[in-house]
Amino acid sequence: MKNNNLPDVNLNLNVRGLPQSATLVINEKSDELRKQGREVCKLGLGQSPFPVPQSVVEELKINAHQKDYLPVKGLKKLREAVAEYHCNNDGICYSPNDVLIGPGSKELMFLLQYVYYGDLVIPTPSWVSYSPQAQIIGRQVRWLCTSKNNNWLFTAEELESQCKDDYLKPRIVILNYPSNPVGVSYTEDQLKRIADVARKHKIILLSDEIYGELHHKGNHISIAKYYDEGTIISSGLSKWCGAGGWRLGTFTFPASLRWLLDAIAVMASETFTSTSAPIQYAAVRAFQGGSDIENYLWRSRWILDKLGNKIAKQLQAGGIDTPKPEGAFYLFLDFCNFKEKLKEKNISDSSKLCSRLFEETGVAILPGEVFGMKPEELTARLAYVDFDGVAAMEAALKINSRDEINGTFLQNYCPNILKAISLITNWINS
Ligand code: GLU
Repeated sequence: MKNNNLPDVNLNLNVRGLPQSATLVINEKSDELRKQGREVCKLGLGQSPFPVPQSVVEELKINAHQKDYLPVKGLKKLREAVAEYHCNNDGICYSPNDVLIGPGSKELMFLLQYVYYGDLVIPTPSWVSYSPQAQIIGRQVRWLCTSKNNNWLFTAEELESQCKDDYLKPRIVILNYPSNPVGVSYTEDQLKRIADVARKHKIILLSDEIYGELHHKGNHISIAKYYDEGTIISSGLSKWCGAGGWRLGTFTFPASLRWLLDAIAVMASETFTSTSAPIQYAAVRAFQGGSDIENYLWRSRWILDKLGNKIAKQLQAGGIDTPKPEGAFYLFLDFCNFKEKLKEKNISDSSKLCSRLFEETGVAILPGEVFGMKPEELTARLAYVDFDGVAAMEAALKINSRDEINGTFLQNYCPNILKAISLITNWINS
């Protein structure tokens, strides 16, 4: 009923018509159906299945009483720990003053796009929120073409061709690897070549390395090594520390971009004020690391490596193309071999493909369309995270090598994922 005392719906045009983020919508929908008793395989939201390491949980308990607002840029001890973490892991020396803490890296990304006036340059496919954030703020999105032959990663040549018409136009390029949604990484040589192009065009390079610690072989290299003066490294607790819901993200800047860090801090001070105090204290423990966290990380990598490779092979055997996973917990599926068959089922775009798969099998995956792919390309992202990560981690901590994560282990600890793969391959081939 219309209430004449209230204003008409009067939304900012950049927000009008935008749906909520697809990752979060699919998660809530899957939970709702599960609650109603439906069998659902939740491969939609990319959430770490593993528990937060016990030592980090203990630190949170100890600091539950921390109630004061913390400094806008973050707790000094945490900024020190993050700077040192990047010095040790990436071989680049940062000072605590180079680090900015936020309530999730997603928020920091939004503020970066807000304060820096430039186009956003991202590949197809890219994580679901980069482009909507640009749209909300009113920035232009320039998509970099990729190809399946190149594992859907963009090349230095593609970046060069994007930049060449307007040589020094302000741009933020986001490089995300191991990649969401593809689960693959760049080689050192590819990174060096992208860094050369970025330097030539004075690009602000946001290197989203939130999955860096989840490179399955532990071989992640930061591009900041090759383009330190223009690279911001984005990380946080969500993926490698299993703490998505804790909402803690970090940006690490070179000294040459201190003005950008300071501008984001102004925005932070006027919006979220500072990140949750107990979480920041606990995060110090996570970034300081130690043998327990190392053991935990290796077990996470082994499980994801073995599971990802097993299901990728099963999907390929069922005719669904997918690159061999190298990091994170995603597979990017290409159903192009089934184009005609799907047409007979009245399916000709990726959203319809995923909604029909969900309705008919209970398997939730996300359409390529929400990652910037063309709808008719029939691609989708599968997050292989629907398993009991507490039990799997407990079992994995009792073993000492990757090889011990075998078929029996996966069958015992990740049955829902294996079931989902059979459901997908049977459905598509039926
Ligand atoms: N990064 C995760 C994903 O791509 C979920 C978090 C989010 O989208 O905010 O599924």
